[in-house]
Amino acid sequence: MTSAKIISGTEISEKVLGEVRGEAEAFRSRHGRSPGLAVVLVGDDPASTVYVRMKIRDCGLSGIESFSHHLPGDTPTEEILRIVKDLNGDDRVDGLLVQLPLPDEVDTVSILDSIDPAKDVDGFHPVNVGRLVRGDRDVLMPCTPAGVMRMLDEEGIDPHGRRAVIVGRSDIVGKPMAFLLLHRHATVTICHSRTPDLDRTVRNADILVAAVGRPLMVKKEWVNPGAVVIDVGVNQLTREDAPGHILEDPDRVKDFDKKGYTLVGDVSPDAVEVAGWYTPVPGGVGPMTRAILMANTVKAAKWRAD
Ligand code: NDP
Repeated sequence: MTSAKIISGTEISEKVLGEVRGEAEAFRSRHGRSPGLAVVLVGDDPASTVYVRMKIRDCGLSGIESFSHHLPGDTPTEEILRIVKDLNGDDRVDGLLVQLPLPDEVDTVSILDSIDPAKDVDGFHPVNVGRLVRGDRDVLMPCTPAGVMRMLDEEGIDPHGRRAVIVGRSDIVGKPMAFLLLHRHATVTICHSRTPDLDRTVRNADILVAAVGRPLMVKKEWVNPGAVVIDVGVNQLTREDAPGHILEDPDRVKDFDKKGYTLVGDVSPDAVEVAGWYTPVPGGVGPMTRAILMANTVKAAKWRAD
């Protein structure tokens, strides 16, 4: 039985964060202040609360000053717009993000559109989306797809001439991922919930990116032998829903006993037996997303200061 090379997001993200620390320190020596990241959280969604806490912690570890704004869940759109406007005008703030999803009552599009594109470290503002689609080099890119590209580069995987299949077409992962791979001369297919014969299309992939949000949806049998498998999905799987090979993994069993669930991706982990390269969950794309957010903040700080 062959086994894929594991692409460790944990290790590569450490390297990225090491670079960020150096750049943040150099920025501080030059400008007399650290790069700054403002994070706006509206409401108490448990997952969002954890993500924001991790972002603030990453700032501390990276030499970036953080500014946290936690607003009640019933904060009106106008009030959030006012806070974003203040942060746009605050010179200590180089990067600004509003944690998604926002409560249903909030007009998410108008909030994202109100962020200064020069501070838009999530890369969701239409100006940055347009620049990314156009293929500009100097652009604040969405963190997850940018993190995936860095993983490919670190492994020496050149998308040029390869067939890339992306499952998922969200604005934050699937679509920008498609453009980044396209700009690097991959032949890109984007799949979604209405794609017929998904397994057949996936089996065609030299590079597969799964960004769906459905635990273990991509089966080992769907994977083209030797393919690069990038699993973006992060899903909670309970013991009741776990297939046999997951229940045989002692680390997963420990998770079930301790938390009642284990984190799995969109790809069944036994795909590692056929893939050429494979990103695990946890420890794959997740840490890269966080590290690129820090890298984007330092980038924004340098661009703004120059
Ligand atoms: P969205 O829910 O926004 O998009 C999911 C996409 O998957 C949609 O395009 C949807 O199609 C498609 N889809 C859903 N069901 C199927 C199906 N049965 N067959 C084919 N396609 C399907 O999710 P996100 O892009 O925000 O996130 C995707 C996953 O990645 C989630 O698990 C999320 O937690 C994770 N994630 C992980 C990150 C990380 O850092 N590791 C960062 C961001 C996300 P349609 O458009 O037709 O509805």
